[in-house]
Amino acid sequence: MNHISHWIDGRVVPGTSGRIGVVWNPATGEQQAAVDFAAVDEVDAAVATAKAAFPAWRATNLSRRAEVMFHMRELISANRKEIAGLLSAEHGKVLSDALGEVARGLENVEFACGIPHLLKGGYSEQASTGVDVYQIKQPLGVVAGITPFNFPAMVPMWMFANALACGNTFVLKPSEKDPSASMFLAELLKQAGLPDGVFNVVHGDKVAVDRLLEHPDIAAVSFVGSTPIAKYIYETGTKNGKRVQALGGAKNHMLVLPDADLDMAADAAVSAAYGSAGERCMAISVVLAVDSVADALIERIQARIPDIKVGPASEPGNEMGPLITREHRDKVAGYIGAAAEEGATVVVDGRDGAPADGFFLKPSLIDRATPGMSCYDDEIFGPVLTVTRVRSYDEGLQLINDNQYGNGTAIFTRDGGVARQFEFDVQVGMVGVNVPIPVPVSYYSFGGWKASLFGDQHMYGPEGVNFYTRSKVVTKRWPDPRSSTVDLGFPQNR
Ligand code: NAD
Repeated sequence: MNHISHWIDGRVVPGTSGRIGVVWNPATGEQQAAVDFAAVDEVDAAVATAKAAFPAWRATNLSRRAEVMFHMRELISANRKEIAGLLSAEHGKVLSDALGEVARGLENVEFACGIPHLLKGGYSEQASTGVDVYQIKQPLGVVAGITPFNFPAMVPMWMFANALACGNTFVLKPSEKDPSASMFLAELLKQAGLPDGVFNVVHGDKVAVDRLLEHPDIAAVSFVGSTPIAKYIYETGTKNGKRVQALGGAKNHMLVLPDADLDMAADAAVSAAYGSAGERCMAISVVLAVDSVADALIERIQARIPDIKVGPASEPGNEMGPLITREHRDKVAGYIGAAAEEGATVVVDGRDGAPADGFFLKPSLIDRATPGMSCYDDEIFGPVLTVTRVRSYDEGLQLINDNQYGNGTAIFTRDGGVARQFEFDVQVGMVGVNVPIPVPVSYYSFGGWKASLFGDQHMYGPEGVNFYTRSKVVTKRWPDPRSSTVDLGFPQNR
């Protein structure tokens, strides 16, 4: 059986803790690999390696750092099918979806190729007579990334591309459920010319995460995962003096107004709710349908569901794979049962007819979900779309703004004025107008509001560069003996 170990100092390092995790094949329900879980001393070894590599890497010139990113870009591009294959095997997502993940991750490496430009600071000549002032951006040191199961390649790329290009060294703790992609990316970074020790991977669970959160040599932590853990990471990391950005869960609402193109809205809702089996933090999980079009919209969504091909990623043509574990599948199935008990209408029950092997559910559609029902209140993170009927735009907006999460949202309308008002009013970090999954391109930044993000800086893009650097302002004068005097007053412009 395949055994996955840590990556420290540019090579595979077998675990010594004696603790291992199971990597399932979610399409069959069988174990396909074992992964080492790091103990404290193994995390310490990775951090020590990253710390030792930092002085030389931060001193490496910008052209050389950019060159590594350019090489990495070529390597990921050349190996995209192989990476996608690993994602499909361990996560279960179908190949087209996995290739999309690689492409969206690669964007961040492409963005980081521009690091010489991104690290330019401001310069003020003659701020005072003979005095110039400028800002420089310097790396933080050793930074850590802790990532979720649902994007095992893209989310690490969100983090390490900018972190490394800015001159930091990195310790990644990927999800223990699908750890192979991070090892493959580590290999590629080495091939791209990244010096050993600059990028390290430790696998594991809470033991490894907690050590990273309290380790005195970790300067910053980037986290993506569920809200309770994001909150814990933020509170513990900041208590230990670290800079932290912690992205949490979501409950993304799509508001469909009466003037929307209902076929387009139904296509969008189906794609965004059931793609990747609903295991996307930007999945649409709630449709808010204004009453007058609710029946027509639900009819259209329902009509599309039987055409969705559910099955293993290994069979070409399938569009939706399994869920990540049996436990998660059963939890998602539980929400469908609870919805009926709580008074919602189960229009399509995805428990019926799902493939028997593996962790499959088919798409579910639930109508008349309302606040207070678990299917409305909780992040389900599975292929379950609920519909809430609203009387008006205002009622729909209120529901979105009242929600504890604020990751993504979308409005479907033909009215530009209403769409603009929605952008203005809605308390959500990423907004789509007739776009159901508005994941920002890599030269913007990704992040939600409210319980979807703890911290000040969003991830990747310009805010990612800010997160992974600290600025220093230099005030400089080359002495002119003629102007030298004693002056006890506070420095001011002259
Ligand atoms: P998770 O919170 O269970 O795990 C995320 C990471 O935290 C993993 O590396 C895991 O090993 C670690 N972890 C888990 N429990 C921990 C604990 N008690 N203490 C310390 N570390 C712990 O999330 P997941 O199930 O892997 O991913 C799904 C979740 O991630 C969903 O809630 C989804 O919305 C969210 N997500 C959010 C975004 C975003 O950008 N906002 C993106 C992707 C996923």
